Amino acid sequence: MTLRERERAALAGDGRLQASIRRSADNVHDRWLLTRTELEDADGLREAARSLRSAAIARLPELLAQLADNVEAAGGSVFFAGDAEEASGYVAGVARRRGVKLAVKSKSMVSEEIGLSERLQAIGVEAIETDLGEWAQQLDGEPPSHILAPAMHKSYEDWVRVLAPLGYDGGVDANAMTAFARRTLRQSFLEAGMGITGVNLAIAESGTLMTVTNEGNGRLTAGRPPVHVAIMGMERIVASWAEADLLLALLSRAGAGVSIGTYVNFVTGPRRPGDLDGPEELHLVIVDNGRSNVLGSASQEALNCIRCGACLNACPVFRQIGGHAYGDVYSGPIGAVIVPLLREGQEELSHASSLCGACWKACPVAIPLHDLLLQGRADHAGSERALWRAWAAAWSSPRAFALSGAPAGLRPPQSLVPPPFREWARGRELPHREGATFRARWRRGEVLE
Ligand code: SF4
Repeated sequence: MTLRERERAALAGDGRLQASIRRSADNVHDRWLLTRTELEDADGLREAARSLRSAAIARLPELLAQLADNVEAAGGSVFFAGDAEEASGYVAGVARRRGVKLAVKSKSMVSEEIGLSERLQAIGVEAIETDLGEWAQQLDGEPPSHILAPAMHKSYEDWVRVLAPLGYDGGVDANAMTAFARRTLRQSFLEAGMGITGVNLAIAESGTLMTVTNEGNGRLTAGRPPVHVAIMGMERIVASWAEADLLLALLSRAGAGVSIGTYVNFVTGPRRPGDLDGPEELHLVIVDNGRSNVLGSASQEALNCIRCGACLNACPVFRQIGGHAYGDVYSGPIGAVIVPLLREGQEELSHASSLCGACWKACPVAIPLHDLLLQGRADHAGSERALWRAWAAAWSSPRAFALSGAPAGLRPPQSLVPPPFREWARGRELPHREGATFRARWRRGEVLE
């Protein structure tokens, strides 16, 4: 389906999708605005965060090398994956070597991006999501619809429907559902041979991986199974703990509306002699998958993203159509920017925006998303550019200019608007001139005063 068709399908529902998103997105967005006021100089910190993210991306090769050296020095293994195939293949190889049959996953968008669960399934490894929302999505056979709150679009009734086949009978009661999930998932943590996590930020100076969760599943996933695989997009790196500290303050507030995430884990290497717990092996998979094409481009700042999801919550388009209509694991304004940069054939996504700027205002690292969306449109404006050139050429000629004004007195029905303009004309009132043209009135001497 095209983007337009997916949008229409999302809008044709009974309004529950929009109501569920509104309830959750408003809640987080309002708390983000509130917790922002706790910061002494919120605007200054935001600009500082923007600068340090830009500086880190500018030094990416150097910082990644430093990170890899320090992870290896701490006893971990590092694999640089050029694409999704290489990344998921490496993890599958580790699982095969270790005889893994069950893996637990804490939420990781990059693992969705590389199709990791499907790859593991193909070699007989069951991968169970342990983030509550992500688990519900897995049970429902759906991809996540929001980068931080994967089941944001689900109503309470949806949750009951999804959990019922597992034996849940506690009705519409969030506490009962959470307790049921905890009981059901705990055994998986105990039995899993591999734990797979994302990485919110990797700290180059010490080789430390930071993950933030609000449910504690990240800690259990990284610490309980004998093998921990952490997967990160290559841009999720900071130079120092001081930088991680600032970004954590902003990530927690913008993403969940809290001063600090409930569980913030720092992992440096696998278990050492004398440690009470932790994995025997730690593997860090650093994924490129199109990101290096963005380096040095006019859209490089898109790599500054810390995946907090605040721009989705603020976006009027996302709030109407939901995440699935974007057709990719990354949705909302950042999805509309980054997906066409990472993958060919997704150019239409940069049109899934009203360019109102609400995303930029919400972004804790001040990425100018509306400018990047325009850049995306400009990058792929081949036929449109030709059209505007033809128009410019026509209006440079007095005769062609005069001719072009004549049809404006007509008001063609939408069905007669030719295809290239039909989408643009949908929902718009076509330009319509009342009375004679300026030239005709000029000739008659009506516009001399
Ligand atoms: S673009 Fe900004 S607001 Fe959106 S997810 Fe990334 S960091 Fe958060």
